[in-house]
Amino acid sequence: MKLDELQGLIFNAGIVGAGGAGFPTHRKLSEKTEIIVVNAAECEPLMMVDHHIYQKHLHLIVETLNMLLDTLGAKQAIIGIKGKNMYLLDPKVVAAMEGTRISVKEIPDIYPAGDEVILTYETTGRIIPEGGIPLDVGVMVSNTETLFNIWKLFNEDTPVVEKYVTIGGDTDRDVTVKVPVGMKIKELLTACGYTDLKGKRLINGGPMMGKLVDIENDVVTKTTKGLLIFPEEHEVIMSRIRPMSVTLKRASAACCNCHMCSDICPRHLMGYDINVHKTLRAASHSEVTNADSFLQASLCCGCGVCSVIACQQMLDPQAISMSVKAELAKQGYRRTPKKIDAVRPERAGRLVPSKLLAQRLGLRRFMGKTVVRDMREFSPDKVYIPTRQHVGAPAVATVKVGDSVQRGDMIAKTPENLLGTTMHASISGKVTEVTPERIVIERI
Ligand code: SF4
Ligand code: SF4
Repeated sequence: MKLDELQGLIFNAGIVGAGGAGFPTHRKLSEKTEIIVVNAAECEPLMMVDHHIYQKHLHLIVETLNMLLDTLGAKQAIIGIKGKNMYLLDPKVVAAMEGTRISVKEIPDIYPAGDEVILTYETTGRIIPEGGIPLDVGVMVSNTETLFNIWKLFNEDTPVVEKYVTIGGDTDRDVTVKVPVGMKIKELLTACGYTDLKGKRLINGGPMMGKLVDIENDVVTKTTKGLLIFPEEHEVIMSRIRPMSVTLKRASAACCNCHMCSDICPRHLMGYDINVHKTLRAASHSEVTNADSFLQASLCCGCGVCSVIACQQMLDPQAISMSVKAELAKQGYRRTPKKIDAVRPERAGRLVPSKLLAQRLGLRRFMGKTVVRDMREFSPDKVYIPTRQHVGAPAVATVKVGDSVQRGDMIAKTPENLLGTTMHASISGKVTEVTPERIVIERI
């Protein structure tokens, strides 16, 4: 298959990164790719979606990688997975990889092993330039479920209409479920038996980088990977509801400028010029002697190691850094890529073990449960498909109120000259609402 043909098919199937920000996958595909790195790190505690895919569908991931290697003309593909999760891989499938272009690489059980900068280094030894992208070093990094979605496109002719999600945290039992995109989170929780949510709040994503859920209104999207339930007084929740004005005041009052937050920052240790203590100082003390104190926040991946592991004063440099980064993004700031020759020599001694992270976050009591795979088909009567579930411009409706749609029909599309993707009906029914933000479909 030709590359532009593959890109067109992937765009039309609405495939985006199935975790994180949802970067449109067709825009990642390039003939400059030498190595495809598969992110099997699942580095945030309590997330189990990739566990399910590797245990059940490794052979399908391998099939997809072979197709991508052929189309991109890439030399090899590396599945980066933690040693503790190797047991998930079918030994027969792994043995069959021997002598092929596809291999499995054991990566350390550290956080954030899934950050593309760290993962690229741990699997290939290559360092993505500061302010650069993986392709700058010939690498394409792919989320595991994204590859599975490509497999479903080519083998089941299915666009992205459902999403694997782990529900866990402060629960008696955790589950991984397959959910129609656009299903209300509240309805999903009820269907799964999580009805007593008094005094609890939810995070969409991992405990480190996920976002607070608006339980009445939020829906499952193409990037929803985990729905984690926590007591509302848990620090994972408190850190997200604390106003920025309070975070800044606390920083101004208590930061002793020890720079532990910068010393342990995983991206700083990769050799990047990011010093979050300077960003925090500049923002909270209005001490701006150098504009780069702010500009280097664009290199932050939001991992939260600075806040959870480093700061003994219980301050939140992560929140300040990400807030500055968001503002820089709004202003269209892009850092000029800078080549990094080597990671900092102290890196090896400052890696953050996943166990330490879970302990510091107070998650140990929520871990260790068997995660049940509940692969029933959910049949919501109504779905609310957001037109923006991805990086880039929103999709524009291609249907109108009153139209009948079948599951899998395209209902919205980003203009092809812009970065974006397509959206599809996740249930069959009638379109009952179309706005720039969402398309509602009701089962008839
Ligand atoms: S959140 Fe903190 S530790 Fe993580 S990359 Fe940003 S500054 Fe570094
Ligand atoms: S670790 Fe905490 S106290 Fe030390 S410089 Fe960073 S924010 Fe300030």
